[in-house]
Amino acid sequence: MSDISTEKNNFIRQIIRDDLTSGKHDSIITRFPPEPNGYLHIGHVKSICLNFGVAKEFNGLCNLRFDDTNPTAEKQDYVDSIKADVEWLGFSWAGQVRYASHYFDKLYEWAIQLIKQGDAYVDFQTPDEIREHRGGFGKPSVESPQRNATIDENLARFDDMKNGKYQEGEAVLRAKIDMNHPNMNMRDPVIYRVLHAHHHQTGDKWCIYPMYDYAHPLSDATENITHSICTLEFEDHRPFYDWVVEKVGFDVPPRQYEFSRLNIDHTLTSKRKLKRLVEMGVVSGWDDPRMPTIAGMRRRGYTPEGLRDFCERIGVSKADGVVSFSQLEFSIRNALENSASRGMAVLRPLKVTIKNFDEAVANFATLKKDSVKARLDDGVLWLTQPKHPHADNGEREIPFTKTIYIDKSDFEITPPDGYKRLSPENSEIRLRNSYVLKVEEHICDERGEVMELIATIDEKTLGNNPEGRKVKGVIHWVSATHGVPATVRLYEHLLFEDDEISEEYINNIKAQNPDVDDDTLWVLTHINPNSVQIINAVVEPSLAQANPDEKFQFERESYFVADRVEHTADKPVFNQIVGLKDGFK
Ligand code: ATP
Ligand code: MG
Repeated sequence: MSDISTEKNNFIRQIIRDDLTSGKHDSIITRFPPEPNGYLHIGHVKSICLNFGVAKEFNGLCNLRFDDTNPTAEKQDYVDSIKADVEWLGFSWAGQVRYASHYFDKLYEWAIQLIKQGDAYVDFQTPDEIREHRGGFGKPSVESPQRNATIDENLARFDDMKNGKYQEGEAVLRAKIDMNHPNMNMRDPVIYRVLHAHHHQTGDKWCIYPMYDYAHPLSDATENITHSICTLEFEDHRPFYDWVVEKVGFDVPPRQYEFSRLNIDHTLTSKRKLKRLVEMGVVSGWDDPRMPTIAGMRRRGYTPEGLRDFCERIGVSKADGVVSFSQLEFSIRNALENSASRGMAVLRPLKVTIKNFDEAVANFATLKKDSVKARLDDGVLWLTQPKHPHADNGEREIPFTKTIYIDKSDFEITPPDGYKRLSPENSEIRLRNSYVLKVEEHICDERGEVMELIATIDEKTLGNNPEGRKVKGVIHWVSATHGVPATVRLYEHLLFEDDEISEEYINNIKAQNPDVDDDTLWVLTHINPNSVQIINAVVEPSLAQANPDEKFQFERESYFVADRVEHTADKPVFNQIVGLKDGFK
C-alpha cells in the first residue's frame, strides 16, 4: 500500500510546484473536461480528484467544462448527471459551468484566421480517401487535390460549409501542417466537419462542428488553463495541441501533461461499453449498484471520502497498470469503519425458540449487569445499545423475544474442524448484546436439514459471564416477531476477467448469438450471471428505520447501505457495500 504522504509528491504536483516557485505562473487553473456522452465512472473519479485536488491544494481554480463537440452522442441528461457527480464527490468548479460549445463563435473565427494564414484548407475527399491518403506504416501519404487551393477559395468553401451547402462527409476543414510528419496526428488533421445535427446547447445554430483536438486546446487557452492534465492516449496529440494554440497566437499557452489511465480488475472504464450494459438491460440502469459509474457506486454505498482516499493512495504516474479491486474496497471499508452504525441482520434465518424465555427475563432487572440498559414491556425485553462503538451515532433499542432468528451457518450438526459456533457438542454461545444461549434440541426436516432449534437462556448472563464455565463465540440474532423482513442484495463482480472464462464458454455464447456485434459479444461473454444475489433477510427494527443512503455494518456480515431509491421502513432494501475483511466471501 503506497504511503499517502509520498504520493503528495506525484509528478504533476512537482511540475506545478516548480512552475509556482519559478514564477512561471502566479496561480494555476486546471479543468475537468468530460464529454457528456455517458455517466462518469471510476476512471473519471481519478481525473476529477487530480484536477480539482491540485487546484485546491495550490489555491488555484478548476473549471468544469463540457467538451461537447459531438452532438449526436451527447444529451442534457448526461450534462446533469456529471454536474451532480462532481459535486457529490465534494468538489466545486470555478464560476459557471463551461461548455466548448459556448466558444463555437470564437472557434469559427479562429478557423477563418487559420485559413487566412494559409494554415487550413477545405478538403472534398471522402472520409475513406482522407484516411487512405494519410499513409502511414511505410505507406507514403498523398496530398489532397484541394491542399493548395487559394485562401479566397478556402474562405468561400468554408463559408459554404457553414451555410449548409454540403452533406455530411462531403467537405471538411483541415489544418495544413505536414503530410509527411512522423506523427500521424500532424498529417493535416481534420478540424471541422459537417454535421446536420441538433446540439443540446446551441440548438440548430450550427451545421459544422469543430473536432475535439481543435476545440480542446483552444478552449483551454480561452479559459487561461495553465496545466491541462489528461490521460496518456493524448500524448501523441500534444504536438497538434501546441501547434494550434501557437498558430492562433495565445501569449501564454496552456501546457498539456499526461498521466496513465486508471484500470481496475473486473471493472469497465469505458463509457461506451458501460452504455452497452445499460442498453442491453444486463444492469438496471447507469446507477445499478454493480456499475462502476459514480451514480452506481453512490447507490452501492461507496462514499466520497472512500473514493478520494482511493485516488490518493493509487497516486498518479505515467506507468500503465491494473489496480486491484480490493484496493478500492480497502479505502471504502476504511471510510465506513468509523462512521457506519452497527446493526444485526440475519441473512439466512434459522428459527430458535427459547423455552424458558418468560421465566428467564422476568428477573432481568436484578440479575443483569448494572451497566446494561434494558426494559421489559409486554413480554419483550428491549435492550439499549449504542449504534456505534465509538462514534456519536446515538442509541438503538433491540427487541429480544421468545422466538429469534440466528443465521443457518451458525449451527452445524457435524461441524468442520475449528468451528467456533453452535453444534450439538458445543451447545452454548453468547447472543450478541444479550444472554448466553444453550441449544437443547434441533429439529430437522425429512431431508435432514435443520429447521428449528429449541433452546434456553441462562438468566444470569445479561451482561455477565456465565458461572463456572467458559462460553466461546458470539453470534448475532434478530427477534422473529419484531424483526423486519428485508430485501438484501449481495454482490459479486459484475464482470469476469479474461482468464476467468474458458474458450469453450466463449464459443458456446458465440454459437447462441451468431449475429451480434463485438461489444455485445464481449458483454455476453464477460458478464457474471451471479453478480447479484437477492435474499430475504430479517433485520432489527432500527435498521428498517434507516434513512435512504444510510450506511451500516451488519455485524459479522458486511457493510450495507439502505438503497437510496427503493428502501422504505415498511419494505427495507439494502445493498451490500463491501465485506468486513479483505477477501471476505
Ligand atoms: P471513456 O473512454 O470512458 O468515454 P473518455 O476519456 O472518452 O472516457 P471523457 O469524458 O473525454 O471520457 O473524459 C474526461 C476526462 O476524464 C479526460 O480528461 C480523460 O482523460 C479522463 N479519464 C477518462 N477515463 C479515465 C481513466 N480510466 N483514468 C483516468 N482518467 C480518465
Ligand atoms: Mg473522450
